Amino acid sequence: AVHNKLLELQGNIRVLCRVRPMLAVEKASGEGGAKEVTEYPSPEDLLVTREDKGSRNKMAFEFDRVFAPGSSQAEVFEAVAPIVTSVMDGYSACIFAYGQTGSGKTHTMEGPSEDRGVNFRALEEMFRLRQDRQADMCYTLSLSMLEVYNETIRDLLAAKGKGGGAEMAKLEVRMSDNGSYDVPGLTLVEVHSLDEVWQFMTAGKQSRAVGAHDMNEHSSRSHCIVSLRVRGENLHDKSLATVSKLHLIDLAGSERLSKTDATGDRLKEAQNINKSLSALGDVINALGSKNKAHIPYRNSKLTFLLQDSLGGNSKVLMFVNISPASYNVSETVCSLQFAGRCR
Ligand code: ADP
Ligand code: MG
Repeated sequence: AVHNKLLELQGNIRVLCRVRPMLAVEKASGEGGAKEVTEYPSPEDLLVTREDKGSRNKMAFEFDRVFAPGSSQAEVFEAVAPIVTSVMDGYSACIFAYGQTGSGKTHTMEGPSEDRGVNFRALEEMFRLRQDRQADMCYTLSLSMLEVYNETIRDLLAAKGKGGGAEMAKLEVRMSDNGSYDVPGLTLVEVHSLDEVWQFMTAGKQSRAVGAHDMNEHSSRSHCIVSLRVRGENLHDKSLATVSKLHLIDLAGSERLSKTDATGDRLKEAQNINKSLSALGDVINALGSKNKAHIPYRNSKLTFLLQDSLGGNSKVLMFVNISPASYNVSETVCSLQFAGRCR
């Protein structure tokens, strides 16, 4: 009960931990085999066993919710649904997936087509609410999709030759007259149905792969942001219009670079990822603190871009995705510590 009270006081930031299942190769014994190091004593608690030079150490972590490996996409979305409702009520929100490469970020946000994740379910819920409220409200939903790679913004919905593909136009973040932050020139498409959204998202995903040698590697080093702009007009009183945004963010992998890889372009990429993830941690941490006078949005493209939806009445939901396997334990602990700092 004490714990729940603290959560209420902390207001608009929620941190949820999701543990992916052991993969088949990890469950196998012998090479590739691994032990499971995570335990779930309650829906809010997580234990991680770390073995270090023969000594065993159990670390305890607490989150708003811990999703154990068996949890379904539908169960996970239940925790997200209230955020979607609040976006339709006129409040902006950011939903992040944070974690090392291979920890289940993309599974959580995007999901395979037969078991779709948060992105699709959030859109589904938006269209459902739009239908539900149609006697009183008229909603216009617009979609944009971009990638932040090496501190540059890439429009994933731009038509080829019009800023898409490799020779993209340089996009920057600007503050507009009404104080909101926008990326002038970024493609924003009005969407009318879930099918249409799915087609755009699929196209965006394909354009992410353009120019990349290895799609998985590329996506692990860039942040992918799907954004919905929601305009709601009250049919009984047009002066009661709201504009809000929902950002769905599959972050770059949080793993630290091994010393042997630390050269040239790879080093620069890693430094940019590191910089933007720690800037994000700093912003969320500042938002959760008492002194909100200075929030350091300007330290990375990611936080600068999201600033009108991070803070104020906006909601933040952070998934920290982790692996249960013993060989990932040091990255797992780093991710959990990062997430703990966000609460
Ligand atoms: P990331 O995006 O963090 O690099 P992925 O989402 O690609 O990680 O997940 C890595 C692997 O684990 C993939 O093969 C994915 O299918 C699997 N996986 C991740 N989370 C789950 C889950 N909750 N249930 C089943 N499989 C999962
Ligand atoms: Mg991924």
